[in-house]
Amino acid sequence: MALAEIRKRISDACARAGRSERNVELIAVSKVQPEDRVRAALDQGQTVFGENRVQEAQGRWIPLKQEFPATRLHLIGPLQTNKARGAMDFFDVIQTVDRPKLATTLARLAQERGACPTLFIQVNTGEEPQKAGISPGEADAFIAACRALDLPVEGLMCIPPEGEEPSLHFALLAKIARRNDLPGLSMGMSGDFESAIAQGATAVRVGSAIFGARVPA
Ligand SMILES: *Cc1c(COP(=O)(O)O)cnc(C)c1O
Repeated sequence: MALAEIRKRISDACARAGRSERNVELIAVSKVQPEDRVRAALDQGQTVFGENRVQEAQGRWIPLKQEFPATRLHLIGPLQTNKARGAMDFFDVIQTVDRPKLATTLARLAQERGACPTLFIQVNTGEEPQKAGISPGEADAFIAACRALDLPVEGLMCIPPEGEEPSLHFALLAKIARRNDLPGLSMGMSGDFESAIAQGATAVRVGSAIFGARVPA
């Protein structure tokens, strides 16, 4: 397990960018990883994890959180509106607010529950038809609409297209966040987190570089 090495690379990337490593959170993406690998990370003090499916995350983390109550969980995969309530009850952060219908559902449930997880808006920076996220051209209006619904939007998240230079997408995401006064930038994965940190990432989502290749169930 390469957690210590990844922390070191994050710290070096912060130093190169003249940034404090306290401003870059490492989200260990534990989706589809065997439990022994996840436990090894918990034993090394990792507290923040990312999962992409609500039910899988609940199956793994309801028991593990009893042992490791400081754990904080981020939902980084697409969220269907019929699973929104369960996701809000379970996750500390939902990173994938990507469409008006989901935003209005979250707002209604937040009113009912009197609480809402921290939210990130996913932006489809590559405008890929098969990928979730609001398009860059609609992002400003969508951010404003989420704010009008009183949703606690902290920042933006993106997944750059395969085979394209990721730093262009990170720069675009950072620009949209800046002009909308959003402090959070969730960007950078195993292959490109150092470049994301150079562009201002406040959270990097790293899976296989920490845990090894994902083992299908
Ligand atoms: C799986 C996943 C990651 C982690 O990917 P790695 O390349 O294994 O680091 C990060 N973000 C999202 C949204 C993912 O689905």
